[in-house]
Parts: sequence; C-alpha cells; structure tokens
Amino acid sequence: MSEFQSLRGFHDLLGEEFKRFKYVSELVRGKLKLYNFEEIVLPVVEYLEVFRRSIGEATDIVQKEMFAFQDRKGRWLALRPEGTAGAVRAYIQNRLYALKPYTKLFYEGPMFRYERPQAGRYRQFHQIGAEVFGSIDPLVDAEIIQIVYEILSELNAKVIIEINSIGCKVCRPPYKEALSTYLRTVAGHLCEVCIDRSDRNPLRVLDCKVPTCKEAVKEAPKMVDFLCNECREHYSKLKEYLTLLSIPYRENPHLVRGLDYYTKTVFEAVSEELDVALIAGGRYDYLVEEMGGPPTPAVGFAVGVERLSLLVREGLTEDPLYMLIPFGDVMDYALLVAKALRSEGKRVELSYKRAGLKKQLELANRLGAKYAVLVGEEERAGNFYTLKDMETGHQLKIELSPAM
Ligand code: AMP
Repeated sequence: MSEFQSLRGFHDLLGEEFKRFKYVSELVRGKLKLYNFEEIVLPVVEYLEVFRRSIGEATDIVQKEMFAFQDRKGRWLALRPEGTAGAVRAYIQNRLYALKPYTKLFYEGPMFRYERPQAGRYRQFHQIGAEVFGSIDPLVDAEIIQIVYEILSELNAKVIIEINSIGCKVCRPPYKEALSTYLRTVAGHLCEVCIDRSDRNPLRVLDCKVPTCKEAVKEAPKMVDFLCNECREHYSKLKEYLTLLSIPYRENPHLVRGLDYYTKTVFEAVSEELDVALIAGGRYDYLVEEMGGPPTPAVGFAVGVERLSLLVREGLTEDPLYMLIPFGDVMDYALLVAKALRSEGKRVELSYKRAGLKKQLELANRLGAKYAVLVGEEERAGNFYTLKDMETGHQLKIELSPAM
C-alpha cells in the first residue's frame, strides 16, 4: 500500500464514473434551466451555527455527522453537510428578498457527512439542490416534484416518489404529543436511540430502520390525521396537481426526513432496484425567519449526484475522436493539421507517442478513436491528410483548407 491514500469515504471521480457523474449533472442543470432557476455558488465552509440552527440540534447530521473544526481564532466552523442552510444564509445576507417577490436558486457542489461509507454513500458527495423562496403556493411544491420526476424519467429509473405532509407550527405540536404518548406505550419494542428520541424528536422514530421499531410504529397516529385546515388544504391541492401532471406518487405517512426544518410537504424518490434515496426535499416555511430573515416560505430539493449516477447504464455518446498520427519528421505539419481540425469543432488527440504506424494505430484503438488522421511526408508535400475509419479501415485523402 502506498503511503498516500485518500481519506475513507472521500473518492476520486474519474473515467467512466466521472462520465456518468457529468451526464447526471448536466441533465439536472439542463432541467433547472428550463424552469428558470438561477445558479448560486456557495461556500463550502460556514460557521457551525448555520447548520446547527437550521438542520436541528437533535438530528443525526448535527449530532454525529458534521466535519466541524476550530479555525486559528478558535471559531467553530464546519464543512457543509447539505446546501439548504447555506442557501438560506446567502438569501438573507444578500437581501435577495428585497429584489423580487420570489426567488429561484440552485447550487451544485460537494457536501460532507461523517457517515459509514458503503455503496453509494460517501463522506464527500455531491448534490445539486434547488430552492424556491417566497411562495406558500402548493403549485410550487408540485413543480419541484415535477422536476424530480422528469429527471428520474429521463434516466429510466424505476423509482417511487413518496410524499407526506408533516404539518406546521399549529398542527404539529398536538401531533407530537399524541405520538410521544403512543411511543411510551410501545417503548419496550423500541431501540435505545428511539427511546431517547421519543420525547425530544418523536417524528424520527417513524423512519427508524430497526425492524422492531418499524413494527412498533405501524399503528402509530399519523400526521395526516392531525393536519390543520391550511395544511390539509395545501396537501390535497398538491396531490391534485400531481395527478393533473400524471406524476405517480405514493403517500407514506411515516416519511419525515432527517432534518428539522421541514414543514408541510416532504418527499423522497427512492430507487426500487437499489433501495436508496436518490432525491429528497420538502418545504421549510419558517427557516428563513428563524435564521434572521423576514418571514419567507420556501421549498426545495437536493439530488445526490453519485447516487443518480448509479442509474446511468447505457453507453454515453461522445463526439467521435480523431487520433492524429504523425509518422516521420512532420511535427510542424501535424500541429497545423490538429489546429485545423479542432477549429472545425472536432475532438482531436495528437499522438505524443513516437512509434511506428502499427503501434500508433493500436494506441488509437485503445483510446477508442473513430478515425485515425495519418500525416507523413507525402501528406505534408501535398497539403492533405489521410483519414482512416478505424472500424472499416476505409481511407480517404482530404485536402487541408486553404486558410491553413
Ligand atoms: P438529504 O440532504 O439528506 O436530504 O439528501 C439528499 C440526497 O443526497 C439523498 O437523496 C442522496 O441522494 C444524497 N446523499 C445524502 N447523503 C449522501 C452520502 N453520504 N453519500 C452520497 N449521497 C448522499
């Protein structure tokens, strides 16, 4: 083993994996452009408090998964574990609320969580997230889910979009009470973490993966039965819109998400084949105000780019590669031919390997070239190049344009 290794859960993105990653990234970005989202580049490091206040003290992310550290002045900072907290901080700090009645932003970049690495789960991973600030309308929730659905459809992903409403300041407290009371009656079947959560953060017990906990909450009261009029109306309007848009969804009354800031709509797209969450999001109507901004309802989602990349299987098409093979002392001419081809928009690899024609053609094959561009003394003298189709072996003499 070499002395230098990347950290556990921190991976290099390269080769085919990178191509799939890039493909997903461009697909999502293209989609967000169609919906007129504006890009924002956020810092990777923020004050720890930004995440603690927004994501919530009692969440797994804040309690166990933060890469937090002190800077030289002893201030507590953290590598961002997700994008919404920073986006909200930026929205307030840059007074974006003063510019437009509502604001649509997206970001892309690495996120950091100290989780146990496994397939599709890293300590540094990438998200593309979109946020809409300034509208309470369920139409916005519907559009957010529509984007998610369209992205997944284009990847031919077998996924199910699960939705739920987790209420608001009015209806959640009585529900929490009812849930805590219920959880006390089944405490004997709950794992230790859930017993601890039962009072402080009872909603999280609903999505515990421990089988006995899952069984114990089956009969638990459901948030949807406790929604106030406003939340119930909001949720039913959202479902109406999803039906109108022919977006299949499943209501999951136990879907709560692991972050504290959500209100009303929460959703998650889970891959049926891989059994992992691919895209998740929801509404967070109080967060902007809680972080010092004016009252501003908001809703958003985040895509795990590595996770979605797992779904890209079909060969990705690239522009055909032209491998330029100089033979003999014709480097000057080869440089000019490469320049001419690239100026026509062609993807050109000028061979740096000094070897005979046979070896060079082997290299062209290995690099997946569609064409070899042969350039020797004869070609230079006649101001042309010989184009060889690597598959058929067919050769063609092509004159260089007079501009060269
Ligand atoms: P969250 O911010 O927890 O709502 O996660 C949003 C999406 O980010 C998930 O649906 C995953 O696709 C992705 N994600 C979250 N954690 C990780 C991780 N540790 N490694 C890779 N992707 C992740």
